[in-house]
Amino acid sequence: ASEEFRNFPMVPRVVYGKGSFDTLGDILMPKRKHSEAPMIYLVDDIFEGTELLDRIPSIFCDQIILISADEEPKTEQVDALVKMLRGKYTELPSGVIGIGGGTLLDLAKAVAIMLTNKGDASEYQGWDLVNKKSIYHVGIPTISGTGAEVSRTTVLLGPEKKLGINSDYTTFDQVLLDPELTKGVPKEQWFYTGMDCYIHCIESLNGTFLNAFSKSYGEKSLELCKEVFLEDIEASESREKLMMASWHGGMSIAYSQVGVAHAMSYGLGYVLGVKHGIGNCLVFQYLEEFYPEGVAVFNKMLAKHKIILPKGVCSNLSSSEMDTMISVALGMAPLWENALGENWQSIISPEKLKAIYRKI
Ligand code: NAD
Ligand code: ZN
Repeated sequence: ASEEFRNFPMVPRVVYGKGSFDTLGDILMPKRKHSEAPMIYLVDDIFEGTELLDRIPSIFCDQIILISADEEPKTEQVDALVKMLRGKYTELPSGVIGIGGGTLLDLAKAVAIMLTNKGDASEYQGWDLVNKKSIYHVGIPTISGTGAEVSRTTVLLGPEKKLGINSDYTTFDQVLLDPELTKGVPKEQWFYTGMDCYIHCIESLNGTFLNAFSKSYGEKSLELCKEVFLEDIEASESREKLMMASWHGGMSIAYSQVGVAHAMSYGLGYVLGVKHGIGNCLVFQYLEEFYPEGVAVFNKMLAKHKIILPKGVCSNLSSSEMDTMISVALGMAPLWENALGENWQSIISPEKLKAIYRKI
């Protein structure tokens, strides 16, 4: 029965609204164990030298660590951060706060888990392998779309696989949604990360795992995505709507699964380091066979925002790299089962995936 009726954690506390970032100090204060147990802020280094850093309520021996999001998070990066924090402080931190996109949010989740669990982060990639409660952690998105702010996973590139640490302890204890924080996001990146959300909706709503729980969130998120990417709405309204679309999109896949684009995008990410948002777009444009309506609307969104996707991404792959990419993608069994049903193996084949990757 536990397989069928999964008992999921949700983010227990959330603050929403323009300017809500300035409530962070008050939110953290009661979570401070004492002056020797710091708050650790992991912040996207894009904010270096900006006023956002001055607004971080850093006191006592708190530490702000600037981290680049140029590459997606790695297990060894998590291990190095944890080792540094263990060496520097005599006490465990009071909390970890991630400020940034999916990359920084996932790093904060993983560091919070690994501060209380033994061994390397790669040992926990998978489902429900975490034994001990993580330390208090807070997620503050500065770009909208991944749903990492609500999900119970942190996706990491490990020595052998790109896979999430999926556990009840992964989910944030607190999320702060301030739409103003997404103001500086460059247009292309806004589109790619926003499309991650759109694709979450399409894959969830067209999946065999769909149920009323997922559908309710997926439909709301899809409606918001269409307003943001197809209509002409005011910039501040658009930021608010995309932030909530991301939240609902994440909630939708909590009780279902993603599908073909995500499975194949994992392959691109693992072999070529292609990032999640753009990788999903690169794959999704060629999935009309699986998601005809979704791809048609996606093409309208691309045209409206004059986004030109890169070409020839897979053209210089060796045949062994291509094989790795295909096997990484096919390894995501639950995603294929959601997309195509129990008999997915009779519908999809390595050759078919190769033909799609070749177009990319
Ligand atoms: P990201 O965090 O990599 O950021 C993308 C780019 O936007 C970076 O260059 C970053 O510096 C920049 N950026 C972020 N906020 C900005 C701002 N306010 N102004 C200017 N630039 C800004 O991108 P993402 O698409 O949010 O996240 C992708 C990551 O999320 C991947 O690692 C993926 O695996 C992960 N992910 C996780 C989940 C989950 O449930 N845990 C779900 C989907 C994706
Ligand atoms: Zn995604």
